Amino acid sequence: MAKFFVLLGPPGAGKGTQAQIISKKCGIPHISSGNIFRENLQNETELGLKAKSFMEKGELVPDDITIGMVEDRLDQKDCGNGALLDGFPRTPFQAKSLEMFLTEKGSKIASVPFIDVEEEELIERLSGRWTCRADGHVFHLKYNPPKEAGKCDFDGSELYQRTDDKRETVEQRIKVYFDQTAPLIDFYRERGLLAEIDGSKSIDDVTSELLEVVNCQ
Ligand code: ADP
Ligand code: AMP
Repeated sequence: MAKFFVLLGPPGAGKGTQAQIISKKCGIPHISSGNIFRENLQNETELGLKAKSFMEKGELVPDDITIGMVEDRLDQKDCGNGALLDGFPRTPFQAKSLEMFLTEKGSKIASVPFIDVEEEELIERLSGRWTCRADGHVFHLKYNPPKEAGKCDFDGSELYQRTDDKRETVEQRIKVYFDQTAPLIDFYRERGLLAEIDGSKSIDDVTSELLEVVNCQ
């Protein structure tokens, strides 16, 4: 059966970083709702324009826009063996919709690794984050520097600092996480799917813990 994983955790916990690595190792696509929104913004699509003001303020894009967008992506052929979801679901309504969507396909979530990191560390990580223009690969000035300054190791494209990584927006995003997304911790715990991961460790150590949970080898 296809294996779907939901990477849960606050902004800056390392979901995208880990998803990049695990996706390659396990051969399942990394689906980041944030990356899909940013691509749409870059291409000035109608969806991108709808999402823009919410993203700039560090608010969640409304469920009716987000759910359809992610489900369309999950309907694509490369998700036939499963996917690693990063940044979705982010509200109980999104989580219930995902559950229904997968049930209708005769599938389900295999596990929900919850990568947790303290707030002060999140701010430090997000303020030093550099993101690649072409494919959303992430680096950190201090903790995970690119081989060549300003250039993505994977595709050579330009690295930039996300506008929502400025301090005020980061604080708002963390608040939104606690208000709207943190209830998913209990939602998935009650379903026996939550796997708690200490995200304060090094990138390599977090990867090792995650690989045990995902168990794809
Ligand atoms: P998320 O996708 O959860 O928002 P990212 O994967 O983009 O988080 O990571 C946020 C920042 O922290 C990035 O700059 C990344 O390089 C860095 N980072 C990720 N994991 C670690 C870690 N275990 N230790 C130190 N820095 C990390
Ligand atoms: P991320 O790349 O996951 O940090 O997301 C960046 C921004 O995109 C968020 O602050 C939201 O504005 C929007 N976003 C991403 N995923 C979702 C989601 N599942 N629900 C609502 N908004 C989202």
